[in-house]
Amino acid sequence: MDDCFGSSEALVQVSDMLARIRAAAPAPVGVERVTLGQAVDRILAEPIVATLPLPRYTASAMDGIAFAHQGHQRFKLAGEALAGHPFEAWVAPGEAVSITTGAPLPAGCDTVVMAEDIAVSGEWVELSRPEAVKPGQNVRHAGEEITVGDHVLAAGTLLGPAQLGMAASLGHEHLDVHCRPRVAIFSSGDELRRAGTDIDTTASLFDANASSLAACLKRWGADVVMTDILPDSLEKSISHLSSASRQADLIITSGGVSAGQADLIRFAIQQLGQVSSWRVAMRPGKPMAFGHIEHVPFFGLPGNPVAALVTLMQFVQPLFRQLSGQVHWEAIKWHAISEQPLKGRGGRLDLLRGRYHVDAQGGIRVNPLKEQGSHRLSSLYDANCLIELPDDMAGCNAGTPVTIQPLGELI
Ligand code: AMP
Ligand code: MG
Repeated sequence: MDDCFGSSEALVQVSDMLARIRAAAPAPVGVERVTLGQAVDRILAEPIVATLPLPRYTASAMDGIAFAHQGHQRFKLAGEALAGHPFEAWVAPGEAVSITTGAPLPAGCDTVVMAEDIAVSGEWVELSRPEAVKPGQNVRHAGEEITVGDHVLAAGTLLGPAQLGMAASLGHEHLDVHCRPRVAIFSSGDELRRAGTDIDTTASLFDANASSLAACLKRWGADVVMTDILPDSLEKSISHLSSASRQADLIITSGGVSAGQADLIRFAIQQLGQVSSWRVAMRPGKPMAFGHIEHVPFFGLPGNPVAALVTLMQFVQPLFRQLSGQVHWEAIKWHAISEQPLKGRGGRLDLLRGRYHVDAQGGIRVNPLKEQGSHRLSSLYDANCLIELPDDMAGCNAGTPVTIQPLGELI
């Protein structure tokens, strides 16, 4: 790995940085067995292969009557079939069975007519619209969705409500999921204080990043094992980071990665492991480091609160998803039309905080927020997307198509 320090070092392009990060991402963390009730938002570690067909048995899709479609318009009622209470006998041509949705289709029947289209009189039932009946209608066939041996859910699937319902339908009580990656988060800077402690209002401030980064990582499925503040001291940074590397699968710091005299994080990492990249051609977020302590990946994010969250989303997220086993994850990007001129700096990817909306024609339109300072955390919750202004574009006119990254519930 190339160590590249010094502010004269060329900026690393975002795509190169992402490629380096992906190439260096470790294998997914281990596997644990959890109950279905604990499995929501977890990542499946072993594929689910069907040992049952779905639907389980051929059944009615309607409340009504079931019979053999052989041209009869009037049937003798032979009994009833309810969900959970099948009609056990064979149904002869010219006979019908009253049936409820989900009840097994009795032997001899192939067609169901719904209750609204029949007239019952004593033991007899008549079709109101015989010409509208199609053979085989309103029947769900066993195995029409899933047959035995189907690969139903792949390893790496994020388990949401529908996937868990499917696992339950196939009789799974437990699932093998990836463990939550353990993440250590450090804020760095002599000015930082933990909320709840005394603060000298002229020279100290409360640590925002440990809370915001931890919250974001928890939403992505992390087990945040420590959050701490590192003073601007090389020895203390080294000892904290070294102990974190023995307890965590991923280490993230914020602050202390610029070129100022108090920016010691990269020197600490250099002593403990390697730093492979820093200074990325992106705004917010230029000072950013990526490396390893032993085999544990390390990200040194910028200190400004917006820059810290935006770089977490851009660079930490792909590695974190891979580490957590969600191997097919991809960032969501949409096309939108900018309703206003956009201004960036050129030479770097600018990520402007913006708000999109859907116009009357269904097109996505976007506007940048007025305030773009990377210290203004409120710009992240006032925004609902990031607008990409690529490095070869210092700005654009109103009406230009742009790529946006919806924030959704990501941050
Ligand atoms: P640095 O990257 O350490 O030079 O920090 C850049 C700016 O971000 C400075 O104004 C810091 O005070 C601020 N900052 C750094 N870390 C945090 C944090 N954890 N919470 C809030 N502000 C921070
Ligand atoms: Mg600092």
